[in-house]
Amino acid sequence: MIRVFPNISHLFTKYIASSIKPYYSLIVRLFFILVILICPGLIPGISRAECQETFIIDTTEYSVPLWWCGHRLDSAALADPSELVRLPEKLCYADFRIYVRPGTRDALVTMAKSAANDSVFLVVKSGYRSLWYQRRLIKNRLEKEIPIDDILRLVAPPGYSEHHTGRAVDFVTDGVFFGKSAEYQWLKENAASFGFVESFPKDTSRIIHWEPWHWYLPPEKHEISE
Ligand SMILES: [Zn+2]
Repeated sequence: MIRVFPNISHLFTKYIASSIKPYYSLIVRLFFILVILICPGLIPGISRAECQETFIIDTTEYSVPLWWCGHRLDSAALADPSELVRLPEKLCYADFRIYVRPGTRDALVTMAKSAANDSVFLVVKSGYRSLWYQRRLIKNRLEKEIPIDDILRLVAPPGYSEHHTGRAVDFVTDGVFFGKSAEYQWLKENAASFGFVESFPKDTSRIIHWEPWHWYLPPEKHEISE
């Protein structure tokens, strides 16, 4: 009898192992789904709780998607339109009138001069945007029947965009995707030394699309003169 128990135990273990073997990958997947459901905080960008934040376009209230949830700008971060300054025309796309904070303009002008010395000519297509303008951007896409979640992967909800701060700009190039342009390559190598950061890099974990054209000057990098 003493020798029977180990044999039975061995057979039992062997039987279980062989019977679940075909289901290993399924079991592993179920395990990870369970982890996501039980411990959502372990995986960036995924939260079990629905976002309580909303925004309104016309009279319709929309939920803020999880990837923007918790990123609504503090009202103190929003630019005061009366303090904005216009970017020099030669830096602006076509005849666009583009406004940013004074410190951002100064940093941009200095950076653009440095880029021009390397035969790279930076052109800005967008700077400060009001909440109204951000709503307009979303509304235009809704009118083209683009699903709201698709829109919000490229356009921030009103109140969430760095463009509201007057410290963010979108650069543009002619004919080539910005991520493949000489301008982008130059910015990758040099923008940090002028204080600018790429807010939505290619390897973002927030499910927001890569925005190589979008660069931001954080408040601590601003000129003291501002
Ligand atoms: Zn942008």
